[in-house]
Amino acid sequence: AARASSSMGRAAGQVAAGDWETRVDIRTRDEVGELARSFNNMTRQLGEQRDRLVQTERVAAWRELARRLAHELKNPLFPLQITVENMVRARRLPRKEFDEVFTESATTLQMEIANLKTIIGRFSDFSKMPKPQAIEMDARESVRRVVKLYSPALEEKHIQVGTSIASEPLPILGDSELLHRALSNLVLNAMDAMPKGGTLTVSIARAGEMARIAIADTGEGMTPEERERLFTPYYTTKQHGTGLGLAIVQAVIADHNGTIAVESAEGGGTRFLIGLPLIEEKTKP
Ligand code: ADP
Ligand code: MG
Repeated sequence: AARASSSMGRAAGQVAAGDWETRVDIRTRDEVGELARSFNNMTRQLGEQRDRLVQTERVAAWRELARRLAHELKNPLFPLQITVENMVRARRLPRKEFDEVFTESATTLQMEIANLKTIIGRFSDFSKMPKPQAIEMDARESVRRVVKLYSPALEEKHIQVGTSIASEPLPILGDSELLHRALSNLVLNAMDAMPKGGTLTVSIARAGEMARIAIADTGEGMTPEERERLFTPYYTTKQHGTGLGLAIVQAVIADHNGTIAVESAEGGGTRFLIGLPLIEEKTKP
């Protein structure tokens, strides 16, 4: 019985550590056996629930994307339709008047088609995000570069900048242009989140096998619902936002085999945490 209960304890520990596939192999006919059966039932149900959640999240992300795209395409489509209808009606007019309507309509059509092309262009830019050209680099360089670039603009907006940079090199395989783009998007979002000023804290440190970058603001924060939709392409709460910033960040970090997480509370600021796998520094000849 002692052995059985210690094996139950171990299994419970594994579940707590995130391994939801854990099952215990106890087939006695006593209470411990009964407990083991309900434990196995529980982990199976948990696993199924998690799979359903992941599915639901994916569906929600696609819905959001489809909704945004439909919304954006609707705007130029309406004038296209009206203009074509005008042209058809104008055929009954005398030649000279028709020519006028025709010329004017052709201009409108061309403009709205150009509009459509822009929308589609943005969409395809995003789908064609280049794969990283990764070379050995010091992750601290990316952080230094982004801080240096945006410090003047941040200070102008009454945002104080705090930095904390590891004293030892943090070698990664990275594409410095793409990483710069990703970090820039996070800093720009932080700036948007603090219209009345605040503090931006950027840090990079070693965390085990990872270079850990944190970008934290003291802005308006987010609700849990907002936090869930954050990375969805075209999700934006801003009047002139594209909603592509964080989708790009996520793509870049994923392509670097990294991780990204966000912590935020409504009114309590936001913190993005990025992990990039470190490589062993080449031993000097
Ligand atoms: P955009 O900046 O064009 O809106 P993003 O993908 O960069 O698109 O961000 C999506 C949304 O996530 C923003 O509209 C905003 O609502 C939210 N968000 C992102 N970063 C922050 C932040 N630091 N603080 C509060 N909200 C944020
Ligand atoms: Mg943005």
